[in-house]
Amino acid sequence: MANYADIVNTARNAFQTGRTKQLDFRMKQLKQLYQLYEDNENAILSALATDLHKNKYESVLAELLFLKNDVKTFLMHLKEWAAPEKPPKGFVNMMDEVLIYKEPYGVALVIGAWNYPFFLSFKPMAGAIAAGNCVILKPSEVSPASAKLIAELVPKYLDKECYQVVLGGVPETTELLKERFDYIFYTGSTTVGKIVRAAANEHLTPVTLELGGKSPVYLDSTVDMEKAAKRILWGKCLNAGQTCVAPDYILCTEQAQDEFISKAKNVLEQWYGESSKNSPDLGRIVSDRHFQRLVKLMSSGKVAVGGETDPSQKYISPTILVDVKPSDPIMQEEIFGPLLPIITIKDANEAIKFINSREKPLAFYIFTENAKERKLLIDSVSCGGICCNDTIMHLAVESLPFGGVGHSGIGAYNGYYSFDTFTHKKSCLVKDFSVLGEKLGSSRYPPYTEKKTNFLTMLLLKRKGLGLSRTYLTHTLIFTLGILATLGFRTFLKSGYFRILTDSWNWPNTS
Ligand code: NAD
Repeated sequence: MANYADIVNTARNAFQTGRTKQLDFRMKQLKQLYQLYEDNENAILSALATDLHKNKYESVLAELLFLKNDVKTFLMHLKEWAAPEKPPKGFVNMMDEVLIYKEPYGVALVIGAWNYPFFLSFKPMAGAIAAGNCVILKPSEVSPASAKLIAELVPKYLDKECYQVVLGGVPETTELLKERFDYIFYTGSTTVGKIVRAAANEHLTPVTLELGGKSPVYLDSTVDMEKAAKRILWGKCLNAGQTCVAPDYILCTEQAQDEFISKAKNVLEQWYGESSKNSPDLGRIVSDRHFQRLVKLMSSGKVAVGGETDPSQKYISPTILVDVKPSDPIMQEEIFGPLLPIITIKDANEAIKFINSREKPLAFYIFTENAKERKLLIDSVSCGGICCNDTIMHLAVESLPFGGVGHSGIGAYNGYYSFDTFTHKKSCLVKDFSVLGEKLGSSRYPPYTEKKTNFLTMLLLKRKGLGLSRTYLTHTLIFTLGILATLGFRTFLKSGYFRILTDSWNWPNTS
């Protein structure tokens, strides 16, 4: 086992040199990361084919293209995102500088999962680099060809001290987690997510946990059923169902179920021919252990479509199961394979009750043309994210944060949110020593008096409806000028100059 203390120390010393805080350095590393993707496309595709029987189309689109776009986004926006923010400030701070500095945490540990081994390792890593952190990356041992390639490529392209790769499985990760990190970003199962969080707690290390769970589909008969069937099955068959946001099960009426199944049979035949086993477009299950687990789950309910398996290839055909009971094994855990159970319900309210009686899902898919019902479903279900009338595609929207809630995760990333996740927002107030500033603030000093309290209350009290709009600024300006005039007038009255002036005045004799 490698010496993890040394690895983390090397990264920490590198962080302390301050080089990852320089924007030029980060930009250079991100460009190098892009180059890594460009130069090694064939090697990456081949590792994905070895580990997951992933076809070129899915590898290029669902792993590499998004990784490249992600780096491009950072290169385009990093300067602007990394600059100190000047948030709106209240009236009392009108004379001060109010800033939010974007500070990297330090050494971040990124633990990747096997189902999208490059995407789930490099995407968070790119966010950590952009934010100025050093990174220790631990790819999943379950996709070994990909993990090995990642370990070979990273030191060839990136700074060797700041960014390091550690290989290994459970024992290695357990040891690694004993080290102190400044941030931990974990992708994987909820069970292991709890272990990672417990390890992080030892050092009060902040975490992002990108976990899984059962992502339900609500489907009704108002939709174009052929298109709906295509979009649901595409989400289920992508990477042979081994996608964290794959539609896990369908909730629909019996009528919608019949319509869906009749369309689904045709769609699958159009896509994969008579037997999907011979199609180059369907992936395989990652390991024998996962294959056996899925085969056991197939005994829930009754097979309506598919049901074919071949252990020698870890092949499972896209399978739709009906007559499934909520208490069946397939409804007790995330499926993570090409099995699609259907649970029949009466209406949207029953679907909401069903979903809300379980852990909060990572994704929720709503297929309906009924806008009122859609709104009800969106409002009533708490989940990581929602996609209406499609599956998985919400992840491709760069401006949307991606993450779970409750048992499906903590925190989120994607585009700006990746940068934000790995950034500590350091607040900073800069006051000056001007006479006026001191005058305004001196009422906070003892001895405390009623007059001072009243003055400060007047100064600090939040006024309803006043944001930092133009109206607010106008009000504030008038208010400030009023106070300044009052203070100036009082000073003037107390000044010797006023006395000299008044003494010299020729007051009318009123007596
Ligand atoms: P996995 O087996 O690859 O494990 C994930 C990581 O955790 C690996 O690096 C592994 O080495 C490490 N690990 C495993 N057991 C550990 C332990 N006991 N202690 C410390 N580290 C350990 O992946 P998995 O967990 O089988 O992944 C599948 C799950 O991940 C599914 O639930 C899926 O939904 C979820 N997932 C979520 C996302 C997301 O972005 N939210 C993405 C992919 C997968």
